Amino acid sequence: MITIALSKGRIFDETVPLLKAAGIVTRENPETSRKLILETNRRNVRVIIVRATDVPTYVQFGGADIGVAGKDVLDEHGGDGLYTPLDLKIAKCRMMVAVRKDFDYASAVRQGARLKIATKYVQTAREHFANKGVHVDLIKLYGSMELAPLVGLADAIVDLVSTGSTLKANGLVAVEEIVRISSRLVVNQAALKLKRAQLQPLIDTFTRAVG
Ligand code: ATP
Ligand code: MG
Repeated sequence: MITIALSKGRIFDETVPLLKAAGIVTRENPETSRKLILETNRRNVRVIIVRATDVPTYVQFGGADIGVAGKDVLDEHGGDGLYTPLDLKIAKCRMMVAVRKDFDYASAVRQGARLKIATKYVQTAREHFANKGVHVDLIKLYGSMELAPLVGLADAIVDLVSTGSTLKANGLVAVEEIVRISSRLVVNQAALKLKRAQLQPLIDTFTRAVG
């Protein structure tokens, strides 16, 4: 049995065509089903639905053999015990620093001000500002980061941006790109050895489908 870990939403939606290229079709849609284990047309392949941030954990400890996770999630997780052979080039966005329109970020950085940064991505943010030599106090949030600068919780946020419309709707502007994000295939290293006959063809098909 091969277990594939996916998260609901854009990662599931954008992985469906890749699975299809490998001849794998789930019998149910996670948006309408409450099931967390989805059977597929292949008796020896199943898909489990987990939170995006939990995909690396399931794969690392063998709860799934293979999964799809954003680079944002993988960088935060650290990637121990995970093999990431392939950039699937799906769920693309950018991790950015954003501030209130009326906040002069460049000048705050120039003056060596200590900045309060709210983010879900504490590790990535810490590393980014350390590399820039900017002193920061990091405030861990789990969502709706855009709110933090509006109510004085933070000077800036570190968040994912694709169109920028959420930032705009909240009077924020992106001032710095930290890293370009896309989703990666993650594979359990032990499973790759033990189930190579099943996993390698899947990885090869994905590789061709991504192009
Ligand atoms: P939830 O939104 O339910 O709290 P989440 O934020 O963990 O959960 P998604 O918003 O579906 O889940 O994001 C999953 C992954 O998709 C992220 O880890 C990231 O790699 C990617 N992603 C997030 N936001 C965007 C975006 N605006 N555009 C493109 N890809 C994105
Ligand atoms: Mg989200």
